[in-house]
Amino acid sequence: MIGHTKAETWAKLEVLKHEVASGINTGNKYTVADAARDFLANGTRHLAKKSVEDLAYHVNARIIPGLGRVKLKRLRADDVDYWLNDLAQDMAASSIAAYIAISALAGIRTEEARPLEWRHLHLNPVEGQRCSCGSVHDHDLPPHVEMWHSVREGGDTKTPKSRRTSALPQLVIEMLGKHRVQQQQWRAAHGWKSTNIVYAFGTRYDPVEQAQVIRDQFRAVVAKAGIAGSWTPRELRHTYVSVLSDRGAPIELIADLVGHKDIATTRGVYRHQLKPVIAEGAQLIDDALGNWRPNQKGRRTGK
Ligand SMILES: [Zn+2]
Repeated sequence: MIGHTKAETWAKLEVLKHEVASGINTGNKYTVADAARDFLANGTRHLAKKSVEDLAYHVNARIIPGLGRVKLKRLRADDVDYWLNDLAQDMAASSIAAYIAISALAGIRTEEARPLEWRHLHLNPVEGQRCSCGSVHDHDLPPHVEMWHSVREGGDTKTPKSRRTSALPQLVIEMLGKHRVQQQQWRAAHGWKSTNIVYAFGTRYDPVEQAQVIRDQFRAVVAKAGIAGSWTPRELRHTYVSVLSDRGAPIELIADLVGHKDIATTRGVYRHQLKPVIAEGAQLIDDALGNWRPNQKGRRTGK
């Protein structure tokens, strides 16, 4: 029931109304949900299994929650229009939410996230199954992202060391998966291509999104969350470093995960987010020495 344009969607709904009015059930209580379910049950026999699954998804995840309670005879173009507008808001919300998740929890740079392509996102790399990257993997892998490109000059990430492949946390996998479905849905409903979408966070036409647009969306989220101060998407990576550091990750690991060529860079960039490693070192020495103090005439007064 999702057309490639609004006009097409309306036309399909009109046809459905007409078919239903002349056929199965013309009662005034017959809703869009009833019609959609009838259509799935009776009107999809000539379709391939995959198409029927897609339609069932659209019906259950989109049409029934959005329009299901509307009486079919009373369905107006405006209803569909409002529904499509809601989908558009869902789309923008799911996009920036997924963007925030992968930045704060997988440490991707903003200049790597904007041109991130679906072919580098492996949300379900399971042997023999179609992965989100578009390929079928020949063996199981953990869900992961390849951070290999950025919107810097030349397209490569800034140093070879920046090019890295990281496993994704569960929350990021879920949010990206949800965003992927929303993105396809939204495009299908608005007449843009909905298959083989190149960019995970691209514009509606599928080029790379502008930095300013992401910044504005991010600021809107921050404002809505009631967080004070002026924040930029770049700062999301600091969260990643803080959490890793709090969980006791060694600085060498953090440097690898954020794509720094050496730990000095990590230390320089994230001085405030890193646990005071040097102080920790001192603490270890203190623990080893116990109560011994040199001014106690060399006499160990220990435990
Ligand atoms: Zn894959």
